[in-house]
Amino acid sequence: MQLLAELEARRARLFERLAAVGDFRRGSVSENWRRCGKPSCRRCAEPGSRGHGPRWLWTRTVPGRGTTGRQLRAEELGKVRAELESYRRFAALAEEIAEVSEAICEARPVPAAAAGQAPDPEGQKRALRSARV
Ligand SMILES: [Zn+2]
Repeated sequence: MQLLAELEARRARLFERLAAVGDFRRGSVSENWRRCGKPSCRRCAEPGSRGHGPRWLWTRTVPGRGTTGRQLRAEELGKVRAELESYRRFAALAEEIAEVSEAICEARPVPAAAAGQAPDPEGQKRALRSARV
């Protein structure tokens, strides 16, 4: 029971940290430069020139719907990068919460009503066999 209480306290602290993460978004920011291809363009003709830019793009992959995104204004960059960083904190905490929650599931005893039921010996053997694989 001591273990269960400790795990529950740990999960509660993780949920508090999760609530404090704030705004977050998925995806990434890319910096893009482009050559216009016009022979008269002085910017593209400069030695070592990357062409026109930068243009910043926020993109993210939506499962089943491909990649989505939009161009960012220069003044948005810091905000969007901080939101992307917040998502990494959110995802790490969510993963940690899932692990603690699974440990809680394993530590929590079966409710009294269900514990009174007779175990199925064949089912137990099957579970042991599959666990060894
Ligand atoms: Zn150009």
